[in-house]
Amino acid sequence: MNLRNWIGGEEAAPRSGAYFERYNPADDRELIARIPASGHEDAGRAVAAAEAAYPAWRSTPAPRRAEILFRAGQLLIERKEVYARDMTREMGKVLIEARGDVQEAIDMLFFMAGEGRRLYGQTTPSELGAKMCMTMRTPVGPAALITPWNFPMAIPSWKLAPCLVCGNTAVLKPAEDAPLSALNFVCTLTDAGLPPGVVNVVFGRGAEAGAALIADARVRIVSFTGSTRVGRAIGQQAAADLKHCNLEMGGKNAIIVLADADLELALEGCLWGGFGTTGQRCTAASRVIVEHDIYPQFVERLVERARSLRAGSGLDSGVQLGPIVNARQLQRIEEYVAIGKQEGARLTLGGARLHGREWDRGLFFPPTIFTEATPDMRIAQEEIFGPVVTVLACEGLEDAIAIANRSAYGLSAAIYTTGVNAAWRGLRDLDAGIVYVNAPTIGAEVHLPFGGVRASGNGHRESGAATLDVYSEWKTLYVDYSGRLQRAQIDTAAGPAERGSQLAAGRGSQLGGC
Ligand code: NAD
Repeated sequence: MNLRNWIGGEEAAPRSGAYFERYNPADDRELIARIPASGHEDAGRAVAAAEAAYPAWRSTPAPRRAEILFRAGQLLIERKEVYARDMTREMGKVLIEARGDVQEAIDMLFFMAGEGRRLYGQTTPSELGAKMCMTMRTPVGPAALITPWNFPMAIPSWKLAPCLVCGNTAVLKPAEDAPLSALNFVCTLTDAGLPPGVVNVVFGRGAEAGAALIADARVRIVSFTGSTRVGRAIGQQAAADLKHCNLEMGGKNAIIVLADADLELALEGCLWGGFGTTGQRCTAASRVIVEHDIYPQFVERLVERARSLRAGSGLDSGVQLGPIVNARQLQRIEEYVAIGKQEGARLTLGGARLHGREWDRGLFFPPTIFTEATPDMRIAQEEIFGPVVTVLACEGLEDAIAIANRSAYGLSAAIYTTGVNAAWRGLRDLDAGIVYVNAPTIGAEVHLPFGGVRASGNGHRESGAATLDVYSEWKTLYVDYSGRLQRAQIDTAAGPAERGSQLAAGRGSQLGGC
């Protein structure tokens, strides 16, 4: 099937006529789609369509815009199963997780639909009499939204729903490895009544279609989720043009397990956090930091449980680990296993690509655990983005927090303990955008801010009401109804300090008079 770009409410073939192919990572016999290799011209046409649709969309009342999001959420509920299966076929995550990905998009649509009747500003008193002060959100302009493959519907929804409810138009550039889910999401918005040109889709490679969008001066918002390497370059380019720019990037997230933890609960959390989505999550728990006293027995149980996880096609029930997304990523995982061994960590489980049975048709890698590692090893510092967990030992709470924080990244962190003091110390001192107690590093909910510090983000947040700041400008409004010129800071009615000095002066003269 040849996919088409979606520009101005119509399908559009790439100008170059060039396509590239995407196969099912669990079965290389299944061609998923032939994807337009769009370039500069296609990106330019899509931005022109977004720019043309912008005046009418920004003047559509926010509650009306929101009703379209609400309808899209209702449609997505009906289509959930079909779209989840498309997702599993195109990028591999197991069906139960693919359903969760679509559900996250539904949740985000409903959450942002509610925002259409809020978009709250402030009203506040003036320092002058007969004057009113307020703030309101205004749209910014056409947005370029660039998304990764690992949450192929949820992440486009995290960007599109707030972008649209705030009154902006958009061009979405989905990841090369997951085109269907993005298209399914945009089809749903269209079927819900979104006017032509408000959302456009340009498929293609990042360095071509993506870069062309970022470079376009008509684009006023850039929202990117992906690797820190690409995000850093995009941020620099967007800054030169003074665009709004939101970067959600990589992670090297840690779960701390203290000796007083409920160990069964902690084991469940480490398995789900480390190997859920085959470890291909920005919030994956790729480091587990275990208190020294329980290290041997915890590792033994973790290895035993991880060994029982089954890899295979995400469409097969009973499979917990889907395939690795592409051959390049599989090679990267293999390289990190070699690095870990060279560094002197002990490969306790897994470590080699799976062969035989149905695995030969796809890209499968087993749960892999390194033990006896030290915090500064590359396998404990660099994002691997696969089912590889490094287990580190610590001396206690302070040491555990120090190890967790010794990372370039700061996306998500977790602590397992039954001690209330240790839990609160973790919440306060773990230097990450998201911190969990007695739950793994994954599991964000859409109505709360999502994002990280240091190399994981650039100070903005996705999700929650916080994300509205990416997609709107604050306008400050002053209404003077005094009928005369009032000058702030000059004609201010006397404040306490000034009154004090006037009083003192008055009293002085009075005294003097005495
Ligand atoms: P990636 O950086 O390779 O690609 C992400 C997107 O950027 C893709 O659409 C790609 O085509 C595009 N792109 C690549 N080069 C570009 C360029 N020069 N100009 C414009 N666009 C360009 O990332 P990926 O492999 O798709 O995803 C994995 C990464 O994403 C991991 O690092 C993971 O941690 C991160 N991620 C972060 C979050 C988060 O919310 N923090 C969520 C999911 C994934």
